Amino acid sequence: MADEVITTNNLDESALPLSEGCRMPVRMRNLDETPAEGAPREIQLAEYVLAEILSIKENPEGETLYYVHYIDFNKRLDEWVTKERLDLTRVQQPKKEIKTPLKEIKNGSRPCSPEREIVVKEEPIPILQNGNVPPQKKSTAGRKRKFPGPADETNTSDSKDAVPSPRTTGSLVAHHDDLITRMKNIEMIELGGHMIRPWYFSPYPQELVSLPCIYLCEFCLKYMKSRVCLKRHMAKCNLRHPPGNEIYRKNSISFFEIDGRKNKVYAQNLCLLAKCFLDHKTLYYDTDPFLFYVMTELDNSGFHIVGYFSKEKESTEDYNVACILTLPPYQRKGYGKMLIEFSYELSKFEGKTGSPEKPLSDLGLLSYRSYWSETILEILVNVKPTEPDREISEQTSIKKEDVISTLQYLNLIHYYKGQYIITLTKEVLEAYQRAVAKRTIRIDSQALHWTPKDWSKRGKW
Ligand SMILES: [Zn+2]
Repeated sequence: MADEVITTNNLDESALPLSEGCRMPVRMRNLDETPAEGAPREIQLAEYVLAEILSIKENPEGETLYYVHYIDFNKRLDEWVTKERLDLTRVQQPKKEIKTPLKEIKNGSRPCSPEREIVVKEEPIPILQNGNVPPQKKSTAGRKRKFPGPADETNTSDSKDAVPSPRTTGSLVAHHDDLITRMKNIEMIELGGHMIRPWYFSPYPQELVSLPCIYLCEFCLKYMKSRVCLKRHMAKCNLRHPPGNEIYRKNSISFFEIDGRKNKVYAQNLCLLAKCFLDHKTLYYDTDPFLFYVMTELDNSGFHIVGYFSKEKESTEDYNVACILTLPPYQRKGYGKMLIEFSYELSKFEGKTGSPEKPLSDLGLLSYRSYWSETILEILVNVKPTEPDREISEQTSIKKEDVISTLQYLNLIHYYKGQYIITLTKEVLEAYQRAVAKRTIRIDSQALHWTPKDWSKRGKW
């Protein structure tokens, strides 16, 4: 009989209204489901993890769904779950005053990605209930954000006047979260042969976000609402590679250089796709000041996009990468490091040192750390005492600050009797040799056919 009493109590617990801001342990994705791409192994195996409800909705079958953020985990793991996944015996009611974003950010009461950096000087972006953004005030100076208008406005014509906007300095800018932009809004993307589940919000047109899947032409990146539309499009679309110039080819890998002004619609579609996998950066629709370097893999059906990076035509701060992304189906195969290597190869051709724009994502930082470590160690290992001293950053185009931070990270640099000395340890050398043995694909500078342009000498891009 005592058992029955407990059961009744439990039922009462679960009958308590769950509201946004409630926290409780939530069972992460079922182990038989595909683990979230990019999730470290230990997270994939985790079961119940403390999470916060960010939103509640009902599906067409009348079942209640909860959008949860796992505390201390990257936002890419956030998901809609059913009530069965919630541990209702351990519900923490929300703290008061949870609706003041800036305050929350400061005191950290709101869950956010561990690596988050917030630029608070920017105004929050107003978003209407329907998910659209009201028109921008013309007089506002500085960095502004723009979300796309209706699909046909941004996606069907190459009209130069389609997306008028003031001149700015960034394509993606940091912002503090609005609830809408905190939540994934796209269920699935079909691209080429791949079904890809987005990690973050991306401002695709409202009429597409409610669909179970959106369909992308893998060559021009145009988005469509159905497979029928995609088929019809593929019959007409002549592209079998990204637009722009092919500036590199070695074996099956190519790089295309795309001017954000000349190929605006393509560049915008690329940004929309990229935003699905890049957190706390907001798209900026003025792609004019940027070049896009798209890496592809060639087979008999065409040049398939693997990843890309964007780069300002002119950077006052020596940035050689604005945004960088390897698409999820190609991650963990060494392509990310190739993208990074290529960005430094361009800097070498320009005779400059460069650095990626900050903040880097968690995965981006891992890739860069690894690239920097290997590249710097390669030089240190092969240094010949007879050769004249050449700065590491001069040889690698890696900016001095990044060289120093890498040496510190590897714990190789020490201050001794008034000067800095670098000591290579056996452990570091062994780790380096293992990494080099794994890195089978490399950029071959002989295969790069490119002349840097001096954009500052051009009146207008
Ligand atoms: Zn197309």
